[in-house]
Amino acid sequence: MHRDLGLFVVADGMGGHAAGEVASRLAVSTLVEELAASPLEDRTPATALATLRAAVLAANRAILERAARDPRCAGMGTTLTALLTTGDGSSLCLAHVGDSRAYRLSGDALEQLTTDQTWVQEQVALGRLTPEEARYHPAAAVLTMALGTTTEPDIQTWTGSARAGDVFLLCSDGLTGPVEDAVLQATLAKPAPVEELAAELVAAANGAGGPDNISVIVLRAIA
Ligand code: CA
Repeated sequence: MHRDLGLFVVADGMGGHAAGEVASRLAVSTLVEELAASPLEDRTPATALATLRAAVLAANRAILERAARDPRCAGMGTTLTALLTTGDGSSLCLAHVGDSRAYRLSGDALEQLTTDQTWVQEQVALGRLTPEEARYHPAAAVLTMALGTTTEPDIQTWTGSARAGDVFLLCSDGLTGPVEDAVLQATLAKPAPVEELAAELVAAANGAGGPDNISVIVLRAIA
C-alpha cells in the first residue's frame, strides 16, 4: 500500500519454490517504481488509467525477464489488482489481471468491480456453471490470465469516482474463496476504522478454514 503514490495494490503470486512470491513482489516493486516516476499532482482522470496500464505492462515485462534469467523462477506468475487515484483524489482507476478482486460498497450496494480471470468464471459466463458451483469447483483456482505468463496480458480496467463514505476492498482469493459476498458487505458496512474492517475480514477467512494466504486492503472515501 503506497498512500503517497495514490496506489493500492494486491498481488497474489503463483509458482513453486517461492517463485510466486518473487513474482508478486516484483510486480508491486515495478508498479511503485513506475508510478513514483509520474508525479501524483500531474495525474488527471484523462491520464491516470494510461499511466497505470503502462506500469502494469512494465511489471509483466519485469516478471518475464526475471523468469528467463533464473530457471528457479520459470513459470512463475502473479495476479494484480491495482487501484490508482488522481492527484485531487476525485477519480479512481483500476487495472486487474487474475482472480484477486476489487469491490465497492456504496450505500447498501456491494459491487464487484473486477471479473475473475478463471476457468470457472468463463463457465459461469457461458451458463455451464452457477456461481455457487464455481465457488466450490475443484478447478476454482485455475487462472486463465496472470502477469508473467504472456507478453500481452489481458488487463481489465475500470474508472470511476468515489462518493464520501464509499468503501473499497482489494483482496486475494484467500478471502473471497472462503468468505461470501454477504459477509463482505455486512463487514464493510460497519462504521469502524478501515484497519479493523480488514482485520475482521482476515479473521472471517481464517475462521472459515481458509488455507490460502490472505491479502486485504480496505479504503474509505472521505469528503
Ligand atoms: Ca491465492
